[in-house]
Amino acid sequence: MGDNVNQSRAVQVKTAAVHAGEGPNPVTGASAPDIVMSTTYIIDPDVSFSATMITDETPYTYTRWGNPTVTQLEQKLAALETSEACVAFASGMAAITALFLQVLRAGDHLLMSDVTYAAASEIANDTLPHLGVEVSRVDTSDLERLRDALRPNTRLVYLETPANPLLRLTDVEAATAIAHAAGVPVCVDSTFATPISLRPIELGADYVVHSLTKYICGHGDALGGAVCGRQQDLAQLRSMAIHLGGILSPFNAWLIMRGAATLPIRMKAHEENALAVARHLEHHPLVTRVIYPGLPSHPQYDLARRTMENFAGMVTFQVADGPAAARALSDRLQIIHYAVSLGHHRTLVCYLPTADLLRTSFHLTAEQEAAYRGFAGDGIFRLSVGLEDPADLIADLDQALAGTS
Ligand SMILES: *Cc1c(COP(=O)(O)O)cnc(C)c1O
Repeated sequence: MGDNVNQSRAVQVKTAAVHAGEGPNPVTGASAPDIVMSTTYIIDPDVSFSATMITDETPYTYTRWGNPTVTQLEQKLAALETSEACVAFASGMAAITALFLQVLRAGDHLLMSDVTYAAASEIANDTLPHLGVEVSRVDTSDLERLRDALRPNTRLVYLETPANPLLRLTDVEAATAIAHAAGVPVCVDSTFATPISLRPIELGADYVVHSLTKYICGHGDALGGAVCGRQQDLAQLRSMAIHLGGILSPFNAWLIMRGAATLPIRMKAHEENALAVARHLEHHPLVTRVIYPGLPSHPQYDLARRTMENFAGMVTFQVADGPAAARALSDRLQIIHYAVSLGHHRTLVCYLPTADLLRTSFHLTAEQEAAYRGFAGDGIFRLSVGLEDPADLIADLDQALAGTS
């Protein structure tokens, strides 16, 4: 591993969230960023047309290669993650796929967390093996197991913390030290944590991926993804992005940039609301278990307190009869939406039955399945606590759960 150059922020995080990457338009004086929708740009006839020749100094040529609004967002995200560089994508999955295709070759081994965002697990199951890439899974919260699972041909360790949907944590600094000792780079999916909670680059990680669709956009109205990391690594990833074509639209970049400006204050409010709702659910007669990194009952509470600057807004809970409660919530909730996705200002909840996820997404050993059930039982409600008043959220959950037959 090369030295990790940490770009410590020139200003505090709240200031970076508002100002990084942006600036008044030098021609019009407009204070808010413009949305540059142009797909093409007036060029110099000497410009090169090779994607591999594109650098930060190359003038804009064609929006798939680079766009001023998307660049502004990338600079803001790099400032928030304290990374040298950032490449934005059309979705979190476009970011993850591009990184896999960039880093992994036939004969390489990908070692990934046994619990990740379902589609990341599915592409590793369904697509990478056809390209000759070996994939194996390990519980990355167990550092000894992680060390033992590395192989001579391992080319990437892929972590996710807190892991969707369990909210199981991985010690990024310790896991990265183990991977680096074997010469293997590390990628962290930090979507649930956001740079307000955790900055994996500062802990040694090589790549950070985000679904911008979630907290960073924050309003449920734009898909996006990003990879943050070193300039040199991301120059290659940029060529991959240009060829795969899954680039972010300027309009979505603008929406996500607008969301990112309030990320620090929103994360504070998400955490405060989630803690209130999680504490209430812990005492609810129908609720058998609540998992939230900010509660002392979280199995890794000490790690959470030591490593997370914000516990974020994701809470999971279990009840005796999950399917019946799912029906009650979907029929009766008045404020909370029964829907997938997360990190929005609006509170969202959905039920994730363990058997379904194990069948469709995660191919686990019996031991890994037992560990999964240790967190999730037969199924969990994944609650993304939004920015409403927590008293209203609690009342809505109570009245809806009361309808469980
Ligand atoms: C949603 C999500 C993704 C995928 O992002 P999309 O923007 O939906 O493609 C990846 N990782 C995590 C943890 C997510 O929550």
